[in-house]
Amino acid sequence: MTAKRETDMTYRQDTIAAIATAPGNGGIGIIRMSGPEAGQILSRIFVPAGREDNPPASHRMTYGRITDGTETVDECMAVFMQAPRSYTREDVAEIQIHGGSFVVNRVLELCLKEGARLAEAGEFTRRAFLNGRVDLSRAEAVMELITARGEQARRAAVRQLDGGASSFISGFSDRLADLQAGLAACIDYPEEITDEEGAGALKEGLEDLTNRLESAIDEHASRLIHQGLRIALIGRPNVGKSSLLNALLGEERAIVTNIPGTTRDTVQGEMTVRGFRVLLNDTAGIHETADPVEKIGVERSEKARKEADASLLILDGSEPLTETDRELLARFSGEGAVVINKTDLPQSLREEDVRKILPHTECITVCANDPDSLKPLIRYLEKFTEISDQLALTQPRHLDAARRALKHMKDALETLDSFTPDVAATDLQAAQAALGEITGENADEKLLDRVFSGFCVGK
Ligand code: GDP
Repeated sequence: MTAKRETDMTYRQDTIAAIATAPGNGGIGIIRMSGPEAGQILSRIFVPAGREDNPPASHRMTYGRITDGTETVDECMAVFMQAPRSYTREDVAEIQIHGGSFVVNRVLELCLKEGARLAEAGEFTRRAFLNGRVDLSRAEAVMELITARGEQARRAAVRQLDGGASSFISGFSDRLADLQAGLAACIDYPEEITDEEGAGALKEGLEDLTNRLESAIDEHASRLIHQGLRIALIGRPNVGKSSLLNALLGEERAIVTNIPGTTRDTVQGEMTVRGFRVLLNDTAGIHETADPVEKIGVERSEKARKEADASLLILDGSEPLTETDRELLARFSGEGAVVINKTDLPQSLREEDVRKILPHTECITVCANDPDSLKPLIRYLEKFTEISDQLALTQPRHLDAARRALKHMKDALETLDSFTPDVAATDLQAAQAALGEITGENADEKLLDRVFSGFCVGK
């Protein structure tokens, strides 16, 4: 444990309290306290039913009531967890009361009146980290789990909580330390190991590690897990973009009319594909227009297309290709598919017409009015959600630190070529420091403040 962390520990010797449940009315509300006074404060406001110890024996849920000294505030269940067998490794008390926001706040006030201090955001988990119960990546996983907005985000958080990122980084950092030791030997014993010999052996090992780290940094997977897949629906007015969005979402979200240009602004909807969030962005029709309102929509849709992971260019199958369609097809680049809509009407557009212009782009036919016809389109979207479930690094802060470590390792590789081992040693040290930010091995106050400020107060 670094000196920094010990300092942090010593000035955080007070007892903190917070409401651990979500704001608003609920079946149960939980007040949580952590710190040396947790048991004493509990015993002053809690009256166990029957002849129980107070605070109750450790880890025993006890029925009783909360009192302010003159009257009963609520009935409750209370548990005292003696250090170190607790979430924070400190003495912890939790009180379960009826979950009305007034009563919950009233009990919190009692805890504060008896000497507890209101916890800062994430302070319970920060204490768990500072007391060595979890490393930083596992502490962060707690919040990732709380805020997970899809099955895959939940899975990634659980992997991280299980120590996925930690064990990857600590194994990796050990290997890097071996290389650093080799490099130090080259620097310290230049008579025994020539620069060429030393650099040769190190280069191979470092190249291998660089490749491993590079493949662990999967930006696409990380974005998919944390933000979802962004899909832009583009096409000229009236081809059925809004109808398709509604059909995919299964609800009436965009206004559907047959006056060209109705969907002037972008409309967003969210669906789930294989446990990932898919954000559908229904843009205004992309076409040349003199109408300034529509023009804003056109600009937005161009932007949406560029920001999206993939675009769906919608065409109306009941009409032959128009000039605008042709222009859109000609401009269509990057990831995406062409979707021919309105297959329930007599068709004037065939897939071959599209293939002549875009031979390598997938072409899907659908009818926005028939949910069953959307299956091929959903299968197409599923392709973007294929990621390895072994990924160790998916959290954006981890990726940022890993990218910096990678850059230092690549710099070291270059310097090894010019036989300047001492410069390479500095680069590898910087790489280690960046990796240490992931697990918290190398975390200063500022980094901890940044990580924990994103937490909720009772966590
Ligand atoms: P947008 O301007 O591209 O968003 O197009 P809309 O979704 O507003 O649709 C324009 C018109 O086409 C509306 O009258 C829709 O009801 C109609 N429409 C959309 N999809 C289909 C379809 O698959 N079949 C038929 N017959 N009409 C459709």
